[in-house]
Amino acid sequence: MTTLRGDEARIRALVDFLCSRECNGRAPGTPGGRLARDRVQAELAGAGLEPAAPDGSWLQPVPGCDGHNVLGRLPGRGERAIVVGAHFDHLGPDGTGEAYWGADDNAAAVAVMVEVAHLLRGRELERSVLFCGFDGEEPPHFCTPGMGSVHYVAEPPFPLDRIDTMVCMDLVGHTLGPPGLPAAVGDSLMVMGAGRGEGLGGAVDRAAARAPEGVAPRRMSCEVIPALSDYYAFDKAQIPFLFLSCGRWEHYHEITDTPEKLAYGKIAATAGFLAELVVELAALEGERRYVPGGTDDAATVVSLQAIGTALATVDPRAGMLLAALSSFEGKERLSPAEKQALAGIVSMVESTLSGG
Ligand SMILES: [Zn+2]
Repeated sequence: MTTLRGDEARIRALVDFLCSRECNGRAPGTPGGRLARDRVQAELAGAGLEPAAPDGSWLQPVPGCDGHNVLGRLPGRGERAIVVGAHFDHLGPDGTGEAYWGADDNAAAVAVMVEVAHLLRGRELERSVLFCGFDGEEPPHFCTPGMGSVHYVAEPPFPLDRIDTMVCMDLVGHTLGPPGLPAAVGDSLMVMGAGRGEGLGGAVDRAAARAPEGVAPRRMSCEVIPALSDYYAFDKAQIPFLFLSCGRWEHYHEITDTPEKLAYGKIAATAGFLAELVVELAALEGERRYVPGGTDDAATVVSLQAIGTALATVDPRAGMLLAALSSFEGKERLSPAEKQALAGIVSMVESTLSGG
């Protein structure tokens, strides 16, 4: 079987367009936001999807943010579906003639979503795949009824009880840490939430084993970070989810989040991994049972150990990290105190990676 991988040139072209002066930061309900939305629709149509809004169009109005979700579908054999979602809006102009361009947040993820549609084109999976370009993810709409994904769950175009897993992407465009770190660190892609649904961890591991060079998927508990993207409403509705992210970096919500800073090889590899993941998720037997409060502690420890071991070759502080992790090794569930200690280790890794 050949390794799946996105098309770097097409990814770059889409990111450049979404981060252009014309799109002006892609705020919902603005001319730039509409231009971005039109482009997302054209890209999903160009990848061979069907329109999936209730009225037969591509667009689900989101009155609360004066925007629209863009919805496409790859039909499957069965009645059930997997959702792949990424928000395409961003923070708009900054008031000084610049804009928040939003390359990592979230043009890269939109490009990954489009590439996954291309990679799965012509495949008939057991489940349909619903591709959702969400509007209104950013403040002031975040976690309000005006958030595109909250609205999607409140007025679902497809029955929620037939969605087995929601895969959300945010901030998937950058290399982890400063330049010069080993690829095993820089290529890391966090995959959070596997503990919230039965069978998800195995699906992630099988897809990761087939991931192309350039991305290193690493499972982590979703509770190592606050809810910060479109999976929020799905989690509340007790739909199992997976959240793919490279985490926040120094350009997060700054006007310096621009296309030339992104890692296009990693983005293309991420698309290949996600296509494999969707194939795995679509093939899982039975309905996915949601696990309330489910965590992924043991896998988090394994992921941190992998990052720590690679970091240790260039940063002596990683030795402390590995020593701290050794007490958690092999434990399936951690106590509240241990979880707190693990969260401390995660922030230690974050500060090491951001050069702190
Ligand atoms: Zn975002």
